[in-house]
Amino acid sequence: MSDVAPHFFTAIIGSGFAGLGMAVRLKQTGVEDFVVFERANEVGGTWRDNTYPGCACDVESHLYSFSFAPHPRWSRMWSPQPEIFDYLKQCARRFNVLPKMLFNHRVEKASWNETLKKWEIVTSKGNFTATFLISATGALSEPATPDIPGLNQFRGTVFHSAKWNHEHRLEGESVAVIGTGASAGQFVPVIQPLVDKLYLFQRTPPWVLPHNNRRLSEREQALYSRFPLLLRLQRLRIYLTRELFGIGFRRPRRIRWLQKFALSYLQRKIQDPVLRKKLTPNYNIGCKRILLSRTYLPSLTQPNVEVVTNSIDSIGEDFIRTSDGEKRFVKTLILATGFQLSKIHLADDLSGKGGQTLAQSWRGSPQAYLGTTVAGFPNLFLLFGPNTGLGHSSVVLMAESQIEYILGAIRFMQKRAATTLEVRSPAQLSFVKGIDAKMQGTIWNTGCASWYLDRTGRNSVIWPGSVGAFRRKLKRFKSDHYFIG
Ligand code: NAP
Repeated sequence: MSDVAPHFFTAIIGSGFAGLGMAVRLKQTGVEDFVVFERANEVGGTWRDNTYPGCACDVESHLYSFSFAPHPRWSRMWSPQPEIFDYLKQCARRFNVLPKMLFNHRVEKASWNETLKKWEIVTSKGNFTATFLISATGALSEPATPDIPGLNQFRGTVFHSAKWNHEHRLEGESVAVIGTGASAGQFVPVIQPLVDKLYLFQRTPPWVLPHNNRRLSEREQALYSRFPLLLRLQRLRIYLTRELFGIGFRRPRRIRWLQKFALSYLQRKIQDPVLRKKLTPNYNIGCKRILLSRTYLPSLTQPNVEVVTNSIDSIGEDFIRTSDGEKRFVKTLILATGFQLSKIHLADDLSGKGGQTLAQSWRGSPQAYLGTTVAGFPNLFLLFGPNTGLGHSSVVLMAESQIEYILGAIRFMQKRAATTLEVRSPAQLSFVKGIDAKMQGTIWNTGCASWYLDRTGRNSVIWPGSVGAFRRKLKRFKSDHYFIG
């Protein structure tokens, strides 16, 4: 890479919740020499990209927001995507980090230069170098396309839920939806009244719980604006309630009551025994993400809906054939098949010491010290890295813990006038061993086979403790776990 490539002290990849939060906190702590590479032309990450009808967050907005930017004006307890996207854009403006963003710069490759002690970054719009590299590409950035024979022969309209085709009208059409995860759970009730026929191809039924997504009245919003303490107490209440739920996920016997409740809810909403049987999960609640919805189950009882549980055998020009040989003819196919979660974005394109990529170092099972730093990859930090996902609370809290940890590390380096840090392998190994031990017996490892498990069978997605425990672990940057140069 040429010597004239612009150099930054810190480079961040991605401007979703994590990257944006990192940028704001860097600026607030007086670090001005940084840049954010964003492949799109706007901040927002998953909340910019996912625009499907009914898209909303399944964690209460008062908790699913930055602690440094409380927002008294959420319209609902669980706010819809446009509001979350607006919130992120507002934060970018309010904290004046937009001038730090290089939009339409897709990072294609980044390599650690051991001689020059810096990261060499190749983007779609030119080359750069940086002392520290912070990857904030998010777990939900790469849509997963199912490997179904004939999918690319389909002649109708096909799109993924994360890339919703708003130009295409669904009214009066025959539509197939593949997948019944959190995304389908939100858009199926919205599109069902529009379409002529809806075939919902379900591989595994989700557990569904009703939630009271009440509107926050003007008076309530005004109170939160006037008395920020009330807003903080509300956030604390939600945080503590969710931490209590987390205990249940770690000790499955403690949430059997929740499963009984979900079962009785299913029985109340679905009268038809055949449909009810199809929709009854055969795994423990909490193992996969629970669907929070009052409209999902009722929408499936409508006469224009068929829940198809036979596996998909193949797709033709205008039909989907299931294993029993039956063909369903459709005009539009919506893939609600989720994201490539255990494949951390850019893992094949980030190379550390000796040219080894993250993917090569992980061999199918992502691992990082505190979910943040990786042995062999000096001066690299991962936001939402391995084992930082949550099944019970807001991941924004996890990102914020990581952000403060990284700031601590940078402060330490500046004080020491040091230039490189690299986590020691034994520290990383012992951290990962601790996680694996803690994961034993949790609902995520025993309840079912889920996408939390990577191709080696290890759970490299979920943090198996409380959010509080994660925050405590990352509270202080401990330099003795690192080689400092
Ligand atoms: P998801 O939860 O991974 O669900 C994907 C669905 O597609 C599952 O039902 C899966 O079945 C099915 N599927 C995948 N490949 C298939 C195939 N080849 N044939 C048939 N079915 C197939 O995806 P998602 O609903 O998009 O959600 C992804 C992530 O986003 C989750 O972590 C979710 O919690 C998160 N999300 C969050 C919110 C929020 O409110 N915060 C909103 C939307 C999404 P199996 O279950 O059998 O694998």
